[in-house]
Amino acid sequence: MPIYEYKCNNCGNIQGILLRGYNDPDDLACDSCGSVDIKRIISRVNYHSSSSDRLNSYDSRARHTDSFYQDTRNIGLHAEQMLKKSGVEPTEDFKAKLEKVRTDPSSILKD
Ligand SMILES: [Zn+2]
Repeated sequence: MPIYEYKCNNCGNIQGILLRGYNDPDDLACDSCGSVDIKRIISRVNYHSSSSDRLNSYDSRARHTDSFYQDTRNIGLHAEQMLKKSGVEPTEDFKAKLEKVRTDPSSILKD
């Protein structure tokens, strides 16, 4: 499960919160001053989450933040999850294309 770090905009306190998905819980509050004005920051834990962690915690029905879409490692997660749900093993060709798009998104335009 991913652990996210949140920074309080009121007192600057940083706390780690374990989430079940990629969306912020509704009841987030600073554990130091109680302010609800806190924002997720990119933590090392988040950065190093494996692709299977990302896939498992991906919620196709959830709204995603801009940073989600800007992170090329999230490209194709939806398709990957749909395949997994229907019990279809992605082909090597599919996986290779996905890897290429994730590591070099501009390659789509070249092909
Ligand atoms: Zn605070």
